Formats: sequence, structure tokens, C-alpha cells
Amino acid sequence: MIYRRLQSSLRGDVVETLKPGSRGPDVKLIQSLLVKIGYNPGVIDGIFGQQTREAVREFQLDNGLEPDGVVGPITWNDFERFLRGYDIYTIRPGDTLYNISRRYYTTLNAVLTANPGIDPLRLRVGQTVIVPYGIDVVFTDIDYTYEIMERNIKGLKARYPFIETGIAGKSVLGKNLYYIRLGNGPTEVFYNGAHHSLEWITSPLLMKFIENFSRGYSSNSRIRGYNIRDIWNRSSIFIMPMVNPDGVDLVLSGLKRDNPYYDSLLAWNDTGLPFSQVWQANIRGVDLNRNYPASWEEAKAQEPFLGVNGPGPTRYGGPRPLSEPETQTVVDFTRRHNFRLVIAYHTQGRVIYWMYKGIAPPGALQIARIFSSVSGYAISEVPFEAAYAGCKDWFIEQYGRPGYTIEAGIGRNPISILQFDTIYRANEEIMLLAPIV
Ligand SMILES: [Zn+2]
Repeated sequence: MIYRRLQSSLRGDVVETLKPGSRGPDVKLIQSLLVKIGYNPGVIDGIFGQQTREAVREFQLDNGLEPDGVVGPITWNDFERFLRGYDIYTIRPGDTLYNISRRYYTTLNAVLTANPGIDPLRLRVGQTVIVPYGIDVVFTDIDYTYEIMERNIKGLKARYPFIETGIAGKSVLGKNLYYIRLGNGPTEVFYNGAHHSLEWITSPLLMKFIENFSRGYSSNSRIRGYNIRDIWNRSSIFIMPMVNPDGVDLVLSGLKRDNPYYDSLLAWNDTGLPFSQVWQANIRGVDLNRNYPASWEEAKAQEPFLGVNGPGPTRYGGPRPLSEPETQTVVDFTRRHNFRLVIAYHTQGRVIYWMYKGIAPPGALQIARIFSSVSGYAISEVPFEAAYAGCKDWFIEQYGRPGYTIEAGIGRNPISILQFDTIYRANEEIMLLAPIV
């Protein structure tokens, strides 16, 4: 029963049946999952074709389900356990944690980590345990929607109960602005991603880091030579992986009829191109990285020269600084902490911006040079159109401490998820170093 309840709270009541001919992020998600757990659905293209159907059928056969090759509510339910990355297992006579972990292709350590305080020698029949599957939680090969992120956060929290997760605020449409805290030491740093809708690849970048860092901590191992427990004890890394979930949703799932800004959005997007190619703003057409109170008026004065005259896909700074709940949340969150450094992740260019209006906080250039050397990204002067009212600008102006915009990846936005591994490799050490430089 507990298991059922959890299911419905995770997905709500809206479960769309996927069948041959279906398209979209959910199809990609299922394809990616099938690959993860050892099936072959063909190319992960978001199109439910013959091969995906076959893979679903095989999954159904292996799991005692009606093998119709269609992902209806019952099959969704079974997928859900794998999607969240763990099962809730009820102890039966004769069970040992070791045997259970073997049955789930996972490690005893993973089971012990997910169930703090459990005594392996005193298991009670009927007791429930969280059993993580032997697969990673965070998806890094598909469109990373808000729903996937939300599910991944819950999955990571179940596997690694020692991480702190929470909601820092809400988006315009009421989506949660999640944060995750890694570590419990006094040095606080803050990373955030996806201010810009098309740059959603920065969300799985941060989420994957959370997963790897948590695993490193729980298994007392090193990543790239860094002692994770040591970083954990010395610092607290706060991560807000998706600052603009409404915008990400719009570019990944398209404009839905029930969107309260439906008509406005159609009018605001005067580019003649689909949202999935052009939309960087939040759902009210405000470019969040031009909405911070740091020379906001200067950013505003640029708008006519950038061809901006109101809400739209990009570069409109809003009616006033912090007019949007998303930027307000980032600012409030920052004010409640004592961050010594902030990194705002964006994409395009493989460069590191570190200065704001000639202000160079103490140590900022030195740290930028270290980031540059471990990532291969260049240190750069900010271009005209990105000089004001951004997240790092506000942080630098307000605190006089290092703030960075890191542009990961290369090419036209949205950059392909195929760049994920390259981007992760380039940025992992930056994220490990930032709390200890
Ligand atoms: Zn950006």
C-alpha cells in the first residue's frame, strides 16, 4: 500500500499511455530507461517505433505483465520503480540484506546507506527497506524535463538520505525551485543552472554532480583525486539545478493549451520559429539573467538596440528588477546564506565570465584561472549584451565576492545532449574545487 501511495504522489494521476506512434519526452525517457536496465529500444529519438515496442514487450514478459508492448498505467507503475531508482522491499523470512542486494544487482553498502540505522542482524519480517537498483539515477542522455529532475531528486534523496533537499521558492506557474545541499561544513558556495530555458543541459550537469558527489561521500572514495569526505566536512555546496522550470518545460514539451499565458506566448514569440529553438525567457517573457538589481537600468537601456520592446524569447529584463519569482527566489536564497562564491551555469562558448563593470573581487581572477586550467574553458570579458543585471553581476556587486557565469558547451542553443559527457568532464573539477579554492 505504501508503495502504491508513493507512486501516485510521484506522478500525480496523469499517466499518458505510450504506444506505437507516440512521441515526446516521455517516450525518450522510457527508451533511455530501457537501455539503462538492459533492453534495446533502438535509437533514443522520442519516437515509439517497432523496436521500442519490442523492448517494452520484453520488459513486460520479464516482469510478469501482459506483453502488449504498450505502456499503460500498469506498465508505467513498474517503470516508475526503475525511474526513481529504488524499490521498497518488504522483508520475508530468511532474507538477508546481502541476498537482497544481490537480487537487485546492487551493493550491500548501497542498501545500508539508503537505510540508516538499520541493523542487518535484526531484520523483522514485514519491515520495509529501500533497495536502490544497481543503476544510476540521473538521466544524462535525454531531454531533462522538470518532472524528470523532480523524480531524480526524490530518487537521490532516498538513496542518500544524508543529503538535504528543499524548495527555495516557486516559479510563475507554481513549479518548485528545488535546492540540494551537499556537505555540512562552514564554507558555503552556490551553483545554479538553467536561468535560460534552452540551456537546460546545465540541470543534468548539476544533478549528475550531486549523484557522483553523494556516492563518493557514502563510499568514502575519491573523485579525480579529491577526498570527498574532506570536502563534505569543510564545506556546504548549495545547488539549484533549474532556476527556470516553466521555460524549460515550454522548450521541451511545447506550448500546452492550458497554459495561462497561451495567447500571450504566441504573440510574444514573433520570431516565426518554434519555442524549442528560440525561447530563453521565463513563462512571462522575461529574461531572468537580465532581471537582477545590478545595473538593471543599463540593461534596460540596451533593449532598443537589441531589438527588444517587451516580453519575448530573450533579453527583455522585465518591468522592474526582481519582478519575477524565480530571480527573487535566487536573491532571497543567497541572502539567507553566506556564499563565498557563486557559479551560474549557462551554455554556449566554453568560456568563464568573472568580472562585472570592472569590479574584480579579491581572488576572483586567480580562481577563474584555476577553473580555466581544469576545464580548458577560456577566461573572457563579458560581451555587450551580457554585461548587466545577471545573477553573477548582482552577487559581485552585492557581496564583493567571486561570482562566475560559466558557459558550458559549444554550438547553437539548445546544444545537443550528445555533448553531455564532454561538458561533464570539463566541469566536474570546477565543481569539486569551488568550495576549497
Ligand atoms: Zn544563458
